[in-house]
Amino acid sequence: MLGAIEAGGTKFVCAVGNDNGEMLERIQIPTTIPEQTIPMVIEFFKGHEIKALGIGSFGPLDLNEKSDTFGYITSTPKHGWCNFPFVETMKKALNIPVAFDTDVNAAAWGEFLFGAGKGSNCLYITVGTGIGAGAVIGGKCLHGLSHPEMGHIFLRRHPLDRFEGVCPYHKDCLEGLASGPSIEKRWGIKGENLLKDHQAWELEVHYLAQALLQYILILSPEKIIMGGGVMKQSHLFPSIHNEVQRLSEGFLKLPLLEEYIVTPGLGADSGILGALMLAKDIDFGNVPN
Ligand code: ADP
Ligand code: ZN
Repeated sequence: MLGAIEAGGTKFVCAVGNDNGEMLERIQIPTTIPEQTIPMVIEFFKGHEIKALGIGSFGPLDLNEKSDTFGYITSTPKHGWCNFPFVETMKKALNIPVAFDTDVNAAAWGEFLFGAGKGSNCLYITVGTGIGAGAVIGGKCLHGLSHPEMGHIFLRRHPLDRFEGVCPYHKDCLEGLASGPSIEKRWGIKGENLLKDHQAWELEVHYLAQALLQYILILSPEKIIMGGGVMKQSHLFPSIHNEVQRLSEGFLKLPLLEEYIVTPGLGADSGILGALMLAKDIDFGNVPN
């Protein structure tokens, strides 16, 4: 049996499952402070015989194995979680190997193995409380200096948009202009309560399509999977398809966009399933630990 954690800003999803990606039991624990959340997480896994644990976590994370702070959540503004030694804490408590990656890399991994990205170089982007993306390229989650932070790129402004942006670091990066909280702050209404013909969506498409085009130009993914709360607005998909097509100006030969930029094949389970499968790879010696 394997264990998996999808650690998010509002909840931790914990699951146990087998090597085939079948989840046998799962629970949700609210994300408060580590001293409260983590003991409940540990208690859940202590009740099961697991041989390895995979974690997909909100970040930023230190994924550089040579670093003193490897396995930490690093500079998050989320209260109590800054410099939290996630891997070390779980290893000490459970005494098993732990695989660690970003929530979005885990989701990309899940979609690559079982979902809409099956077998292809794929990108997974979430548009929710924050914006982040992970990628599986050449059969591996994309890493380097640490991990990609594709939500914090800079884009051309919509000519009618004077909003300063909500990113605590950059103000008007993609996350600052197009995340759920940015929609709420700009218009004074949560995205889920805005009508389909509200101007908010024109701006949303303007920013997301530009970002996708940058990712396509840089990473050349074969599939782009878009999840997160804001993407529940399914009318955004056809508009994004049209805008990506328009912005590419015929420079790139793009696949049929309806099949290229899609919703997650695994619904809300991409991240937790991906995390479970990260734990499987430890057993096979594929993930250095
Ligand atoms: P998280 O990013 O915390 O994991 P979500 O992906 O659900 O959680 O993102 C939450 C954000 O998405 C909030 O800002 C919320 O207002 C927005 N959101 C949630 N549902 C919708 C919806 N149906 N339409 C537009 N925005 C939504
Ligand atoms: Zn930013």
